[in-house]
Amino acid sequence: MEREQGRSAIVVGAGIGGLAAAIGLQRAGWTVTLLERAPQLREAGAGWSFAPNALRAADALGVGTEFRACSVPTEAGATMRLPGGEYLIRFQPGDDPPLLANHRADLQRVLARQVPADGVRTGAEVTGVRQDDDGVTVTCGDGRQMRADLLVGADGIHSTVRRRVWPDAPQPVFQRILCWRGVSAPGSVWPVSGFQTWARGARFGAHPLTDERVFWFLTVRQEEPGAHFADDLGEVAARTHGWHEPIPALLAATPPETVLRHDIYDLDPLPSYAKGRIALLGDAAHAMTPFLAQGACQALEDAVVLAAEAAGRAPVPHVLNRYDQVRRPRTQQVQRMARADPKLSLSTSAATYRLMTAMTRLASSGVARRKSARLWNWTPPALPTEVTR
Ligand SMILES: Cc1cc2nc3c(=O)[nH]c(=O)nc-3n(C[C@H](O)[C@H](O)[C@H](O)COP(=O)(O)OP(=O)(O)OC[C@H]3O[C@@H](n4cnc5c(N)ncnc54)[C@H](O)[C@@H]3O)c2cc1C
Repeated sequence: MEREQGRSAIVVGAGIGGLAAAIGLQRAGWTVTLLERAPQLREAGAGWSFAPNALRAADALGVGTEFRACSVPTEAGATMRLPGGEYLIRFQPGDDPPLLANHRADLQRVLARQVPADGVRTGAEVTGVRQDDDGVTVTCGDGRQMRADLLVGADGIHSTVRRRVWPDAPQPVFQRILCWRGVSAPGSVWPVSGFQTWARGARFGAHPLTDERVFWFLTVRQEEPGAHFADDLGEVAARTHGWHEPIPALLAATPPETVLRHDIYDLDPLPSYAKGRIALLGDAAHAMTPFLAQGACQALEDAVVLAAEAAGRAPVPHVLNRYDQVRRPRTQQVQRMARADPKLSLSTSAATYRLMTAMTRLASSGVARRKSARLWNWTPPALPTEVTR
């Protein structure tokens, strides 16, 4: 069995949460091994947007410059249209601090560069986790075992670590939402500054990305999970038929084979994110619907708080207990808001849709800004500027 030297951590999962946790723990002086079940660090996914709280977290982790370099400001958070093109809310320059959008593969690449290559093991699927007074042992699918002082389960919504360590934790809940995502070919539809379009029971959004690409999504109500469509892009085009430009142009400029379709699940709030030497982080701890675009932002916040708590010499269970106390209230509030939002914003009721769009039309962008400020108002704790291993 391999044992890491000094204060050692194993992070399970190399998504944004696991990469950020590894970067933060390294910065706090820990020796980190990142275990990822995929054969390579995947360059998959589509786009996503990040609010100022995520930027502050990236700065605290020391990757703010790289983060900004692969991102583009988007006005989608403050531009809401109807399918016919009418504006309900329109972004005013100087109004909201703009969100930043990037391609998931670009951000993962940037973050992965901050983790030493010999600290990452791909093709390493964690199947077992066990802890005692002195450390944590993980077992991988090939039978290999590793031991460390601390273990972070950043292995996503269907987390193996959560299932092994919290066997009674609730299962992910299908939220009756289906989401398609795609990215237009570079330079094909440009410029696009970012917008959302609100129909009854459906929402389309678009964010500009680097290289003059545009990320788009369509979320709709769907009663049962597992729906299959032979032609996903055709299905999106049919459901948005007659909607304003540049929606048809974006769909026409998207390679059909790259379109992603996902059922949307979230988690009920967990009673704890830490047990002894093991903690959950990101979607493994608090998967939420994408309606507030905060899932990855919260994973970055988690990583900063974990690193700040781990920077001292406190015993590991104490560190993780503090992490749990700090992160659980905030993330579970965001999780609840993200579950509540689509009940109105994706309602299929004609009366609710009429009411919500009328209220949105009346609301100034200042109201939208104040609502967002509650979410985005987060100050990172200080992290050591130098590695003190
Ligand atoms: C449609 C959609 C749109 C979204 N848009 C936004 C947005 O705009 N802004 C935002 O902030 N968030 C957004 N989110 C949420 C965001 O995608 C997630 O919160 C974020 O990706 C979670 O990151 P993670 O690292 O916790 O988990 P994941 O990204 O799921 O990574 C988990 C990793 O663990 C690995 N793994 C799993 N099991 C094992 C195992 N047993 N052993 C080893 N490795 C394992 C997986 O292969 C994976 O690499 C969106 C989500 C969806 C579904």
